[in-house]
Amino acid sequence: RAKHEGRNRYSFFEIGMDQALRLRKMVEEDLRGAIERSELELQYQPQFSADGRRIVGVEALVRWNHPVHGSVSPSAFIPVAEERGLISALGEWVLRQACRSARNWKGITVAVNVSPIQFRQKDFVSTVIRILDEERVDPTRVELELTEGVIVEDADAAENAMMDLRAAGLRFALDDFGTGYSSLIYLRRFAFDKIKIDRSFLESMETTGESAILVHSIVHLGRALGLTVTAEGVETAEQQRFLQAVGCHQVQGYLFCRPVSAEKIDELLGLVGEDGTIKPRAAA
Ligand code: C2E
Ligand code: MG
Ligand code: MG
Ligand code: MG
Repeated sequence: RAKHEGRNRYSFFEIGMDQALRLRKMVEEDLRGAIERSELELQYQPQFSADGRRIVGVEALVRWNHPVHGSVSPSAFIPVAEERGLISALGEWVLRQACRSARNWKGITVAVNVSPIQFRQKDFVSTVIRILDEERVDPTRVELELTEGVIVEDADAAENAMMDLRAAGLRFALDDFGTGYSSLIYLRRFAFDKIKIDRSFLESMETTGESAILVHSIVHLGRALGLTVTAEGVETAEQQRFLQAVGCHQVQGYLFCRPVSAEKIDELLGLVGEDGTIKPRAAA
């Protein structure tokens, strides 16, 4: 079961067990108050057209600026939040915050990661719709990034929730594509708009020909199914050229931009003029 919840689960076993236990204890004790103390922050990583020239969207990535431990990785605290029943509160905060930023950013998609446990809450659909409504954000600009873990435990419930959110206008991306074991079946059954090729494929692409073949095949498959294909973790110009050549639609990675503050995205999108003031917004 842990496997289905996403790779983040492994993080506690990769570091030493002592350190892991201390980290877990720290997170449990402090996370509850982190939202109220404004220690959480969202960064946004731009997603580009395949040629790297145009920003087509941003992905919201949560950060925890812990007063003592500094910046704590989401891979470390998301799994604890899931186990301790804090993930829904955290997820709602992330969605609301992303919506507030998104209001400034016309014409691009804002992607928000959703934990499987958050997604399975009975009131998930109504909560999402309510937050978008309260924050006055056009649902068609919001993309929820799900992993296979969302689906495996109760496929029927997941399908229904996705259909309801889809009817409200939201879109779905299948994150970390290729790391699970039955992605192909999910693609046929569930209403995804996009697949995100996991960055592990990109990492090994330069060293093994097989990875390049896999990436090529995933792009073809996605395109054949009418899906948008995004590659994540693009770090080299060589990777980008390859992805563009095989028809990948979008790229995201350190080569183009690291996750940055909302203000930095404002600048990147040209909302901020030379004198630092926000230019009047173009009509949507
Ligand atoms: P993810 O959704 O697959 O996000 C992509 C991760 O890859 C991010 O790590 C991002 O900073 C990193 N990344 C982007 N480009 C590159 C690159 O070129 N090279 C490398 N090596 N890494 C790159 P981050 O921000 O540490 O997030 C890790 C994971 O934590 C995310 O994986 C996601 O599963 C989870 N996460 C982050 N924010 C949230 C959130 O608000 N809610 C939930 N439920 N999960 C979140
Ligand atoms: Mg993601
Ligand atoms: Mg991913
Ligand atoms: Mg992930």
